[in-house]
Amino acid sequence: MNTSELSHRLQEKNTMVVDGATGTNLQKMGLPIGTAPESWVLGNPDAVLDLYKRFIDAGSDIILTCTFGGNRIRLKHAGLENNAREVNQKAVSLAKQAVAGKNVLIAGSIGPTGEMLEPLGPLTEAYAFEVYKEHAETLINAGVDFLVIETQYDLNEALTAILAVRSISDIAIVCSFSYDRGTRTMMGTRPNQVAETLNQTDVFAIGINCGKSLEANLEVLEILKPLTDKPIWFKPNAGAPEADGEGNVHYHISPEDFGNQANLWVEKGARFVGGCCGTSPEHLAAIRQNIH
Ligand SMILES: [Zn+2]
Repeated sequence: MNTSELSHRLQEKNTMVVDGATGTNLQKMGLPIGTAPESWVLGNPDAVLDLYKRFIDAGSDIILTCTFGGNRIRLKHAGLENNAREVNQKAVSLAKQAVAGKNVLIAGSIGPTGEMLEPLGPLTEAYAFEVYKEHAETLINAGVDFLVIETQYDLNEALTAILAVRSISDIAIVCSFSYDRGTRTMMGTRPNQVAETLNQTDVFAIGINCGKSLEANLEVLEILKPLTDKPIWFKPNAGAPEADGEGNVHYHISPEDFGNQANLWVEKGARFVGGCCGTSPEHLAAIRQNIH
């Protein structure tokens, strides 16, 4: 669907509930730490389908495909570089199976390449453009409703991704940044720079996802809201990640405490609400209870 169709859907609902984490939930189901979630799209599709269904049962209006790392660069690290098309197509077809006629939209998840653009890293803009274009094209052809370019940290990379999508389609785009350093991204980008840049584009919504603590994400929401007329997408982690020294990361905010904050996020201007790392279907059910 294009921007005006997604806008119409949002007007109907006023606030849309998105889903929770993919990676941390699949890990709870047995995905080894350090293994790409996309490897389970082909290797354990029942688990991916089950997670999608649990989010839908919890009340999600939108689910994201298990394709965050489905671009050619990340799939290479996962040993799946020869299966890029297959992984993305299968992830979308599992999402369609989970939706099965219900009034739930499928958002194609597009994460960062994981490499730095020149001059900080080896990635050229031209190559990044090709990588994003290929990823988006496979997801669009497989039938996603819109795209979420998410967990971005570099404005130039995000813009390259947006241009790559626009070179092939007018599909609606949400572009979301992760403010890992509190109110700045890993690259030091601030929400006002994100707003200034994305306001000039035709992305439908500007997002805040993953990031640091719930408080820091809320602060970013408060900064961003007056700077843009675009709807805001808000998917924070279940609190700040804490490592246990054995390679595991824990998130401590309970479903009840998470859900109880959802009204505050809407009050502060979020129109799409969900969760990122550490948020389970139970967290989503708690959000749903608070959003009408
Ligand atoms: Zn996250």
